[in-house]
Amino acid sequence: MFKKVLIANRGEIAARVMRTCKSLGVATVGVYSEADMEAPHVKMADEAYLLGGPRVAESYLNIDKILEIARFSKAEAIHPGYGLLSENTEFSRRCEEEGLVFIGPSPEVISRMGSKIEARKVMEEAGVPIVPGIAYPLADAEEAVRVADHMGYPVMLKASAGGGGIGMQIVGNADEIHKAFAGNQKRATDFFGDGAMYIEKYIENPRHIEIQILADGFGDTVYLWERECSIQRRNQKVVEEAPSSFLDEVTRSKMGEAAVKAAQSIKYRNAGTIEFLVDENKNFYFLEMNTRLQVEHPVTEEITGLDLVAEQLRIAAGDSLGFAQDDVKREGHAIEVRIYAEDPKTFFPSPGTITKLSLPEGPGVRHELAVHGQSVVTPFYDPMIAKLVVRGKNRDEAIDCLQEALAHYQVEGIKTNISMLQKVAAHPAFRAGDTTTSFVTKYL
Ligand code: ADP
Ligand code: ADP
Ligand code: MG
Repeated sequence: MFKKVLIANRGEIAARVMRTCKSLGVATVGVYSEADMEAPHVKMADEAYLLGGPRVAESYLNIDKILEIARFSKAEAIHPGYGLLSENTEFSRRCEEEGLVFIGPSPEVISRMGSKIEARKVMEEAGVPIVPGIAYPLADAEEAVRVADHMGYPVMLKASAGGGGIGMQIVGNADEIHKAFAGNQKRATDFFGDGAMYIEKYIENPRHIEIQILADGFGDTVYLWERECSIQRRNQKVVEEAPSSFLDEVTRSKMGEAAVKAAQSIKYRNAGTIEFLVDENKNFYFLEMNTRLQVEHPVTEEITGLDLVAEQLRIAAGDSLGFAQDDVKREGHAIEVRIYAEDPKTFFPSPGTITKLSLPEGPGVRHELAVHGQSVVTPFYDPMIAKLVVRGKNRDEAIDCLQEALAHYQVEGIKTNISMLQKVAAHPAFRAGDTTTSFVTKYL
């Protein structure tokens, strides 16, 4: 195992990774921006270094500076968390060049899966069903209209490099494509440095169900069941659970096996997630692959008893998986909700100063926190301030626990989406498992 690991991230995920490092006796190096001087991950790190100004370009995306700190502090490996540099090919390559272990897959794999267009080609060749659509970049809005006319509306216009729900839009006719194309292309260029756009058929009333995989460097790959993340706003997840109440055992194992096949076809190593859309008839279609730890990984940990960060570290350090598919257990039911500093009606970020934070405690309740009482939530980063994870013997028990915990979750001083999460948790449609990606627009 590594002696020292640098965590190139902030917020709850940096603290989460450090917690496992501590439990394994691995020393931690934290990095932070001027806006994060007082952040929990800085206090938790065994040593921590200032990167620069509050903007991510000056701090958490400053590859040269992060590598300089890694050299200086004699870290052996870098954990990138999610977002930021976690799916950055250049960063993972530079780590390799400097003799540092990047805790994740190879730069080649990150690059191939980072392009949704390329990933669609790879999956199609591997025999994994993909969402119907094209697998080449569109030249302009006119070409998009020609493709969509042929495919039939509605379609999803998407940025090949997109993530976090950014750069995609549902369009119902040629007029809407003309209105949407340039804006989404610009957003994709601004956010991801790549304006390539493509089109997929819009799947009606789908569920978002993804498969967590783990792969070692010796050809062994297992799936750790599924997570359902259908409850979303702005095409980004807010509620995630495992197992999915929609899947039967046959579909579950078919999806698991498809995910393993997908991972093996690219010689994937470390933890990864294959996202699928599942339609009303339980047909599933590859959506994208995330080549990193996912925000919602705790629900998988809760039902399997595994520590995914520990598995990532072990695999990166050269261990073999050490267990087979049949050894992966599945017990109980877990639900995660993302707590955002945002207006619960408009979903616009709402930065400010937290004046009071009071958390529910009890059996089956787990917290992942990016803040503490008196924290300042700045506009510089993702507005997610915490995750609440609950577990129960079954789904009903988990929902009861979620309702109880949310009723006692107090954040004062800023706006949060807690009232919206309470509405989801209390809704009969949620209880009944009627959880499609239209849940928020349909019921709230
Ligand atoms: P997950 O895919 O783990 O469910 P999100 O889609 O919410 O989670 O993304 C997690 C974080 O990563 C968010 O901060 C989001 O803005 C960021 N992110 C996701 N994909 C990308 C990407 N391709 N480029 C940059 N940031 C991304
Ligand atoms: P991101 O990289 O931003 O996570 P994804 O491709 O994973 O983007 O899609 C995010 C969400 O957008 C999906 O979970 C789903 O709700 C919606 N979505 C994406 N593509 C389609 C589609 N073709 N049909 C219907 N919904 C879609
Ligand atoms: Mg996605």
